[in-house]
Amino acid sequence: MRLHPRPEPIPAERDTAAMVADASPPALLASVAHLTGDLTLLRDDLAPDPARMLEPDAGYTPELVAEVQRLAAAALARFRDAGSVPAPPPSQADLARLIGFVTGVGRDDAYLLLLTEELALDGDRRAPAWTKSDVAPERDFTVGIIGAGMSGIVAAHRLLQAGVRVVLFEKNDEVGGTWWENTYPGCRVDVPNHFYSYSFAQSPDWPQFFSTRDVLLDYFRTCADRFGVLPHVRFGSEVLGAVWDEERAAWVVRMRTRDGCEDTTAVEVLVSATGQLNRPHFPDICGRDRFSGPAFHSAAWDHSVALDGKRVAVIGTGASAVQLIPPVAERAAHTTVFQRTPPWMLPTPNYMDELPENLRVLMRHVPGYANWDRLWIFWRMHEGLLPMAVVDPDWPDQARSVSAGNDLIREMFTLYLQAVVADPELYRKMLPTYPPMAKRIVLDNGIVPATFGRDDVDLETTSIAEITESGVRTVDGVEHECDVLIYGTGFQASKFLTPMQMTGRDGVDLHEWWDGEARAYLGMTIPSFPNLFLMYGPNTNIVINGSIIYFSEGEANYIVESVRMLCDRRLASMDVRRDVHDAYNERVDDANRAMAWGASSVNTWYKNASGRVSQNWPFSLLEFWQRTRRPDPADYLLK
Ligand code: NAP
Repeated sequence: MRLHPRPEPIPAERDTAAMVADASPPALLASVAHLTGDLTLLRDDLAPDPARMLEPDAGYTPELVAEVQRLAAAALARFRDAGSVPAPPPSQADLARLIGFVTGVGRDDAYLLLLTEELALDGDRRAPAWTKSDVAPERDFTVGIIGAGMSGIVAAHRLLQAGVRVVLFEKNDEVGGTWWENTYPGCRVDVPNHFYSYSFAQSPDWPQFFSTRDVLLDYFRTCADRFGVLPHVRFGSEVLGAVWDEERAAWVVRMRTRDGCEDTTAVEVLVSATGQLNRPHFPDICGRDRFSGPAFHSAAWDHSVALDGKRVAVIGTGASAVQLIPPVAERAAHTTVFQRTPPWMLPTPNYMDELPENLRVLMRHVPGYANWDRLWIFWRMHEGLLPMAVVDPDWPDQARSVSAGNDLIREMFTLYLQAVVADPELYRKMLPTYPPMAKRIVLDNGIVPATFGRDDVDLETTSIAEITESGVRTVDGVEHECDVLIYGTGFQASKFLTPMQMTGRDGVDLHEWWDGEARAYLGMTIPSFPNLFLMYGPNTNIVINGSIIYFSEGEANYIVESVRMLCDRRLASMDVRRDVHDAYNERVDDANRAMAWGASSVNTWYKNASGRVSQNWPFSLLEFWQRTRRPDPADYLLK
């Protein structure tokens, strides 16, 4: 997969009208204006209407779309005929104008710098502006990173850019984390790819709008390779725990290596980039060990088990299960799906579509379209939906929806379900009874209701009583026999950093200290655990806005700037102040209680066993970006 390729000249015979036919209007005009330097394309009447951004067509009527395409095709034809010579990089003022066209953000807006970074037109706006050899050439300094998935790769990349030595401990034999481990059929990303990718490593080569697991894995492998991360990875090294050594001001990391031996190594800073969704959760259902056939979890797919002609039972209807059920049902003789809580479904017609040829051609000649499309998706998805999840305490029926805006979303989703499910019984089963956004929304292009409506598929909503030798018995006494049992039952998301044993300052044990209530400052730092940083830690998951990669980039930035502070000030350690940590977490908890996912009592992995929202970030994306630009020394005990 190519990253930031140069534009290919447009051949004389290329029909520019066809090239632009499938592009999104604002990204098209901005990318063509950027490539050609013709900013007259940015006509006010063709800019997106901020009030209509969340509508499927973003308020672009067919006439407006036709006008956008006409202008863009003509500009590309002139560009082609003049020899396809890209305009020089835009001035700051022109860049602000281009960004303003797509987003409506003005030159003084707090978002402008964030958007300029996200756009990353010149490749990388977030590279560290320092190197260790400048600030502390004499200091021996290593950062250990646990996990070489999406977060670990970006953290390592940033540190390497700053000339900091890194070592990544990876339990698997490959990079990619979740995209390496999850091999279930139908596995794909459910955030548009131009957005679910590093801001600074854009590719015009995504074959689908929402690419499949193999494509994602290829992307992260490519990135790890290009960024020079691979030589720093110790594959087959599972970290068992780490102990803070005050005298050495280092973490002593204990790991099990590929040959089964234990090994230790000391690092000055330790980063946990193990993710939230990597330890499979098996439900506490009686008789789980009794089943005589093959049984496995979605995240540990057993490819040796042929499903053709078999009776298959799937437990769960979360994001993983709804992806795997359609391909399973295609092969199995009969599929029974056990659903406890139906998910709300976001209609996404292009969810499984290949990128149209026209768009591929456009991106060969206008690769910057990927960046502008990313910006457009970012802006549409960023905070726009967040207000719809905020609880209005005066809203009457809180069990149905949490506010007028939330109810509007509910209406939209309900209309969709009505349109795609003809059978009233199936509709009743699939209609959620809790507010949208209280739980993870899944994407659908019609395949989920179509699969549940198949004659050879049963959607069972009676609770499971037990698992027997030959299948699943529901509480009504019915035994649902099956040959293969698949658990699409999610992950132990709130058990952060388990099963690793982490021992901090003065022998504090992390899991004892947390006592089931994982918290961290900005999701990253924990009192008495100096120089330890978590990525995708407590309360850094997003529900309806943004992409988790955005958070990882912010965290990587904070880590690299923390290392700079340690080096610059000749510090041995930074330990977040307890009062700062506590006040921050109180604010997080208060805000989460006022969101749909905090107020509703529906089952969700967003909450831990005590019912506290331990996963989600309730504030704006802008705030996360602002707060992760650099550490505030006043937040830390510095030694
Ligand atoms: P999940 O959302 O936690 O879903 C688990 C499913 O198992 C739910 O339907 C749950 O029912 C059911 N379940 C759990 N225990 C049960 C029990 N005792 N009896 C009956 N049913 C039970 O897990 P997931 O689907 O693996 O998804 C986890 C997260 O991974 C997603 O939310 C998403 O963030 C990420 N993911 C992302 C993608 C992607 O495309 N990028 C794909 C897959 C997953 P309840 O709803 O009643 O709890």
